[in-house]
Amino acid sequence: MVTRVAIVGAGPSGLAQLHAFEQARAGGAEIPELVCFEKQDDWGGLWNYTWRSGLDQYGNPCHGSMYRYLWSNGPKECLEFSDYTFEQHFGTAIPSFPPREVLYDYIKGRAEASDVRRHIRFDTAVRWIEYDPARETFDVTVEALAEGASRVEQFDHVIVATGHFSVPNVPDFPGFDRFPGRILHSHDFRDAQEFAGRDLLVVGGSYSAEDIALQAKKYGANSVTISYRTAPMGFPWPDGIAEVPLLSRLEGRTAHFADGSARDVDAIILCTGYQHHFPFVASDLRLRTANVLYPPDLYKGVFWTDNPKMMYLGMQDQFYTFTLFDAEAWVARDFVLGRLELPSREEMEKDVAEWRAREEALPDAFAQIDFQADHIADLMALTDYPAFDLDLTRAHFKKWEHDKEESIIGYRDRGFSSPCTGTPAPIHHTLWWEAHDDSLTTFLRTGHPA
Ligand code: FAD
Ligand code: NAP
Ligand code: MG
Repeated sequence: MVTRVAIVGAGPSGLAQLHAFEQARAGGAEIPELVCFEKQDDWGGLWNYTWRSGLDQYGNPCHGSMYRYLWSNGPKECLEFSDYTFEQHFGTAIPSFPPREVLYDYIKGRAEASDVRRHIRFDTAVRWIEYDPARETFDVTVEALAEGASRVEQFDHVIVATGHFSVPNVPDFPGFDRFPGRILHSHDFRDAQEFAGRDLLVVGGSYSAEDIALQAKKYGANSVTISYRTAPMGFPWPDGIAEVPLLSRLEGRTAHFADGSARDVDAIILCTGYQHHFPFVASDLRLRTANVLYPPDLYKGVFWTDNPKMMYLGMQDQFYTFTLFDAEAWVARDFVLGRLELPSREEMEKDVAEWRAREEALPDAFAQIDFQADHIADLMALTDYPAFDLDLTRAHFKKWEHDKEESIIGYRDRGFSSPCTGTPAPIHHTLWWEAHDDSLTTFLRTGHPA
């Protein structure tokens, strides 16, 4: 009987998995039957921008969390596919911090080149995954959303690549129920122009809070107040953005903070992160984790230790993204192909415990970058994923952290060199803070505006 592999999700992680198998096929390997289920009508995951929020056209929770005018927040050199470089895709070197549409084009480019689309069943949601120990296969219940028809299929391996930045974590604060303005989570934020002229409150102290505060100001908000729980981000904010301690309550449109200060605000955006949420996975196979660099119960960050034929991709908190997904996808592939043997369950659990203990002790962001790079190196040593200069990307990320401290509105104007080709990135024709047009056409135009 043919081995069957289910891949859930056709975002960057799921596409990396399909591509990894196609690379093995190109190298002469016999590969199993691949079926990728994608609940949206197109590929690219979060990078496939949608204006929708709340429910999608089928009445299911909308996956998209991306918003208009989003630019890469890390250097693209730190996510470059080593077997499909930016130069190869665009035919020329491009600046280091591309807008969403450009990264989407790049992801699509590799997936098209390896012709993986034929494996994807679009508009098909995975509703339930459970293991049948008698047959030693997984029963996967899927729903064809347009028809509303469900069916159960058997698979030998399941690879969950559904992402974990789509189900919002939504705290409540006293007075929210009587606030005379809009309260939304960053998951539903789509266009900063909505807040032009307004006084905005952003709750949170991480990437979404940072970037949405800047977007709002860039597109005309009157003021943005960022309220943090643990610590301020402490960047040199432009005029009109300020950080204050945690929100304690609202009285009408007046927000009161833990330090006794207060401000009147028109709208509130909760940038309070996301939940790892897998309601479609039976409880004995279901990953339960916070947003950490090394989740529990996943050997090499991929294999469910209790049943390694169940795999997860991209479940880490991410400094590295596409590069990490590739390293994981190659490892998952080689296990499925029988090229990679896993140790005993005890050894797997011990290995996970060691990595998790190491994560616990990391003192700062620089150590976290090294930790995630070490994790990638650990994975790459197991497979033939094409080598790239991983140490250069560590250095890039550390420089990037310094650049952000120096100028939070200017860090995207810097250029980094490719860890694959060595080519230095050109500097973009327009400063990010002044670039209101984020289209691919405008981004790729060379030369400076007249
Ligand atoms: P996703 O991109 O979330 O894709 C998962 C796919 O699975 C989706 O297509 C979804 O429809 C599908 N799916 C989910 N559930 C089911 C189901 N039950 N059945 C069938 N299909 C299902 N990373 C960067 O490198 N640079 C950035 O600048 C950056 N910006 C970001 C900005 C925002 C606002 C957010 C939220 C994230 C950002 N990221 C960024 C991180 C992002 O997580 C990764 O870049 C990447 O999208 C993760 O890929 P993924 O395939 O694991 O998950
Ligand atoms: P995150 O990194 O998980 O951060 C969640 C934040 O919410 C933390 O600061 C946390 O505070 C805060 N929080 C949680 N519960 C809270 C509560 N009850 N009250 C107050 N604060 C609370 O999530 P994220 O910032 O949404 O980022 C998610 C991903 O999106 C990241 O990978 C990021 O790179 C990506 N992203 C990229 C861009 C871009 O510009 N390209 C923009 C946005 C997001 P504590 O620190 O106190 O725990
Ligand atoms: Mg190797």
